Amino acid sequence: MKKTLYSIISVWLLLVGLSFTWNYFNALNNHRYLAFQTARATSRQILLASTWNITQGKVYVSQTDDSPSEINSGNQGSSYNHSPKTELAPISPAEMIRQLSSIAESQEGIRFNLVGLPPYSDKAKISPWEIEAMQTIKNGEKEVGEFREEKKRTYFRHMSPLYAKKSCLSCHAEQGFKQGDLLGGLAIRLPFKDAFPILPMASAHFGAGLIGTLLMLWLGGKLNSAYETIRRQAKIDDLTGIPNRRFFSERLNLEFNRCRREHQPLSLIMCDIDHFKDFNDTYGHSAGDKCLKTVAQTIKETLRRSFDFCARYGGEEIVVILPGTPQEGAVNVAERIRSAVETLEIPHKNSSASAFVTLSLGVATDYLDYKSHEELIRNADRALYRGKGNGRNRVEVYLLGEKIHSILKTAFQNHKPES
Ligand code: GH3
Ligand code: MG
Ligand code: MG
Repeated sequence: MKKTLYSIISVWLLLVGLSFTWNYFNALNNHRYLAFQTARATSRQILLASTWNITQGKVYVSQTDDSPSEINSGNQGSSYNHSPKTELAPISPAEMIRQLSSIAESQEGIRFNLVGLPPYSDKAKISPWEIEAMQTIKNGEKEVGEFREEKKRTYFRHMSPLYAKKSCLSCHAEQGFKQGDLLGGLAIRLPFKDAFPILPMASAHFGAGLIGTLLMLWLGGKLNSAYETIRRQAKIDDLTGIPNRRFFSERLNLEFNRCRREHQPLSLIMCDIDHFKDFNDTYGHSAGDKCLKTVAQTIKETLRRSFDFCARYGGEEIVVILPGTPQEGAVNVAERIRSAVETLEIPHKNSSASAFVTLSLGVATDYLDYKSHEELIRNADRALYRGKGNGRNRVEVYLLGEKIHSILKTAFQNHKPES
């Protein structure tokens, strides 16, 4: 029963573990998917702004103190003037992206960078990760993305390739690029608050595992005690609380075979309450029940060795198995039982044997042939009924050869000498 319960609990915990693993990897994938989607969407917005700049031909911006000393890069024109501050100057797509990145980084922690192809003209502005990612893109990868810890914060870093469009060639044609050529990559760094929310999922699974286990242990306990009750009821006599006849048969069979195997004596005592019918008639059936229970419990308590066994054989007959006990020892036990019941002094005014409830006991021992346990029961019964005949409240022993003796005796009595 316990083994089954532990197996069920193990299966349950395994399922919870599998569910956790599945959910963990699923959530991890979702998390990565979300990061990629966000990075792609951000890239598209940046490229949209860049495309807008290119399609405008030239985009002019006013100069502020924050403006870089060199707004114009590449071939956006040369009308740039440092002063006065209000003068407009054209801004290249690359510079526009750099400025947007600077704003995004200060406001959102998002950083993006246009990375050209190697050899890099301005290596200081390119991080080692971007160089690595650019190489991967150059090798034909469609995009690169990964989570990285930087200064105790988690970021998702992403790079997508930039291919030369027709509009780009106005600037890049002279560098030898053709439409569709790889120009470089757009690198984005997005902050992700939690790399992965593992704690709620872990606690939910731990809770489910624990509650399920406790519930199963509780139910298992209930089931076990119900099972124990049924098992007990199948073996224990309701009225007396001692083993029933079925249990006795099982036990006798077991002990008989064991004693035969180990060449040990096996004794049986058959106990029967004297004039019990009269007891019922005098004191009532429920008083009889109570008396029977008391006698049974007294017999049980009289047995000292753990492997001695008593059971209700039927009616008001109680049988005792004494494994490994020779006849002499069994007679002692029987005498102890007889005396213990007599000492209870349960009144029985209509008994011819005593003023109190008494027992007659028959002892039989098998230590030679071990023919059958039925034979042992029959012999104990024979001795018991001899006890009844000899005045009750006594112990009688079935002696080996007694049967032959009685046959001879009967034959001798019936023998009429010829006159
Ligand atoms: P004896 O001394 O020869 O044994 O006389 P007895 O009256 O005890 O005779 P016997 O053993 O044949 O009778 C058994 C009686 O025990 C019959 C019945 O009234 C009573 N009896 C058997 N089982 C129960 C029981 O469960 N409860 C009660 N109250 N009485 C029982
Ligand atoms: Mg009887
Ligand atoms: Mg009786």
